[in-house]
Amino acid sequence: MRTNKQSYTQPLSILIIDDSSSERILLGTILKKQGHTVTEAAIGLQALTLLSDKSKIFDLIFLDVRMPGIDGYETARRIRAIEKEQSEEWCPIIFLSGQTNPENIANGIAAGGDDYLAKPVNSIVLNSKIAAMQRIADMRQQLLISNQQLEVLAHTDELTQLPNRRHFLSILDSELARARRHDTPLSIAYMDLDHFKEINDTHGHEAGDAVLLSVAKVLSRNLRSEDSIGRIGGEEFCICLPGADTAHSLEPCERYRSLIANLKIPTSAQMLTVTASFGLTSILPDSDDSTRLLARADEALYQAKQHGRNCIEVI
Ligand code: GH3
Ligand code: MG
Ligand code: MG
Repeated sequence: MRTNKQSYTQPLSILIIDDSSSERILLGTILKKQGHTVTEAAIGLQALTLLSDKSKIFDLIFLDVRMPGIDGYETARRIRAIEKEQSEEWCPIIFLSGQTNPENIANGIAAGGDDYLAKPVNSIVLNSKIAAMQRIADMRQQLLISNQQLEVLAHTDELTQLPNRRHFLSILDSELARARRHDTPLSIAYMDLDHFKEINDTHGHEAGDAVLLSVAKVLSRNLRSEDSIGRIGGEEFCICLPGADTAHSLEPCERYRSLIANLKIPTSAQMLTVTASFGLTSILPDSDDSTRLLARADEALYQAKQHGRNCIEVI
């Protein structure tokens, strides 16, 4: 639980939308005294222009109801529409109005407002409402960060920190679509460690994990910038090589194969070595999707295993 009360009193960037200049000055003076930065808009449309400009980010909006042109309700509706359209962060809106019957309040909240205060506003009430809005904004921010962290976790293989199968397949799908759009080649290499079960059986599962981690590290550090790699199974990896047909993919794959074969992997027992077999294939004109591409690469990998392992086969 968050206990940092200080964060609720940090300076905010506040937008005041009110057609009355005296009201704007009155409210602006109170807010500036609290250390907040104030921007003013005299009509709804002026505020909408400011809000469409992505470089101007506000933490809070005070909004009058009765204004010439579009009124406060319509302004709030359009602000919410802009946020949705531009996938922007929610900005708290507090209505400030002389009209305070229950229908006015209900309309304000329905239009997208978060609170509704009566004019003239008492400065103590104003400050506590600002603090409440900041608390909600902080919680939303925390939630956003948590969601982003969850998304990363859902996409990442825990042991190697490489993209997991699902994430790799989505990368492959986008690369496939791009290759089709630009009519460029694309290859994939299905890679499987050789006799990996023996490593586990002889040296233990932990040593096996250390091998997987070392292989993942050496590949991700030495991958060409355009290539992507994912861990798509236990000791199976897949590399996507955009812009290269199989002939042009052989050289980088040979480098990846050799990097693995030359690894000296320290484990608690002893230094281990490992090799990998590769099945390489490219997209065919028009007909390929990621499933067919992977199936063909898997077939090529099977042949590499048949031909003695630690080698690359192409289909
Ligand atoms: P081949 O050369 O034909 O590929 O033989 P292999 O022994 O590598 O293949 P096999 O499919 O028989 O064995 C793969 C082993 O990988 C079996 C499984 O226990 C192990 N494995 C899968 N995931 C992990 C993991 O996360 N950590 C460890 N240590 N082992 C794993
Ligand atoms: Mg294997
Ligand atoms: Mg395998």
